[in-house]
Amino acid sequence: MSLYDKTAHELHELLTAKKISAAELTADVFKRVDEVEDKIGAYLTITRDKAAADAKAVDDKIARGETIAPLEGIPCAVKDNICTKGIKTTCASKILENFIPPYNATVYDKLAGSIVIGKANLDEFAMGSSTENSAYHTTHNPHDLERVPGGSSGGSTAAVAGGEAIFSLGSDTGGSIRQPASFCGVVGFKPTYGRVSRYGLVAFASSLDQIGPITRDVTDCALVLNAICGHDDMDSTSTAAPVPDFTKSLIADVKGLKIGLPKEYFVKGIDPEIETAVRNVAKKFEQLGAQIIELSLPHTEYAISTYYLIAPAEAATNLERYDGVSYGARVDGADVVEMMTNTRTEKFGAEVKRRIMIGNYALSAGYYDAYYLKALKVRTLIQNDFFDAFKTVDLCLTPTTPNAAFKIGEMTSDPLKMYLQDICTVPVNLAGLPAVSMPCGVNRQGLPLAFQLIGKALDETTILRAAFTYEINM
Ligand code: GLN
Repeated sequence: MSLYDKTAHELHELLTAKKISAAELTADVFKRVDEVEDKIGAYLTITRDKAAADAKAVDDKIARGETIAPLEGIPCAVKDNICTKGIKTTCASKILENFIPPYNATVYDKLAGSIVIGKANLDEFAMGSSTENSAYHTTHNPHDLERVPGGSSGGSTAAVAGGEAIFSLGSDTGGSIRQPASFCGVVGFKPTYGRVSRYGLVAFASSLDQIGPITRDVTDCALVLNAICGHDDMDSTSTAAPVPDFTKSLIADVKGLKIGLPKEYFVKGIDPEIETAVRNVAKKFEQLGAQIIELSLPHTEYAISTYYLIAPAEAATNLERYDGVSYGARVDGADVVEMMTNTRTEKFGAEVKRRIMIGNYALSAGYYDAYYLKALKVRTLIQNDFFDAFKTVDLCLTPTTPNAAFKIGEMTSDPLKMYLQDICTVPVNLAGLPAVSMPCGVNRQGLPLAFQLIGKALDETTILRAAFTYEINM
């Protein structure tokens, strides 16, 4: 096995035992990048020189006899909507093609010592489920290059699945960590809203956005969560709740755990192979001592329409700042209004413009009550469904996606079909809850299948425990 294929915790042991150096490890990952990046296209920017310098700094530290943190010296990818001082941060948009942030996102600072290989591709401003909305290129699924890796964190996920990074950071507004993790056969975790600072994450929909890890196993997931969670004075929505040591949840035992199977997630439209796979996961949990309880989350059917009003409304507001004055990109016009219009018309992609239109429509006087306000009320109903369910169960088990990875181009002409991809993931963001997507085998075509475990607010630990138990027993 090559180094680029290993997990962060395995590599940490090799580094501390001085069996490998961070420089060697980084070189091995770059060798892999050189071999496959042409085909996969996980990255928008590759930071080779900085990575080499950072690896040397870690090796010097080891040579001085200092201890290194679990992720120090470990190569990773960072989604290109996370600000990195001095390194271009484009959000895969032409409107930020020359934007070099003057500051770091808090999560990036918290990963100091990890070796950032580069900034990963995404759907423009994280709007999409396939990375086909990137203004630069589409990322390909390492399991089948003709298929999408999912999105919007498709680059971050393909990097981990394709051996171009050991772990990565993504962002999840409606499923953008979990859905690509499911398509690429890796672990993707969306923490509770507020668990991870969003300072320096370019805003898409601020009441839904959350940063989280994409890893090869549950242990690495716990390690990344340890590194990135916690209160931040720079983000007023970040919670002051104490952060546990998530590695303490890596216990292979689900005895007595109550796991709910919400019937609304096993309906027409869900690929039968996925349904069977997830029901088999439920059986496995039962054999391992958990109790499976069928239940109902009755407002699930409204989640997509609710999300596709709230997310675009917030996006329309957040994206007002790209006006041709700040951030670099400008298309001139006869006066300032024409300049702004030209800039936004030319530099935003079709999906981003569609969302801005939907959002402004839903927020406009006359429609606000009928759309945006209504959506907020339904959001509360969806939240209450989970709240009620968690009176009897500890976790909910569902599919992550209605189908396995689809072909590039298959859904681009039908935005509604694409939006339906998020059916199992958006309720979690609307409710602000934590959830993981875990691989559970492959379908007849050899494409990864996955299940989702949803937990109570701030109860990442129970999710990790169940996910770890499943992983160990597979
Ligand atoms: N696919 C969803 C959307 O297009 C979710 C995106 C995300 O989580 N960033 O909005």
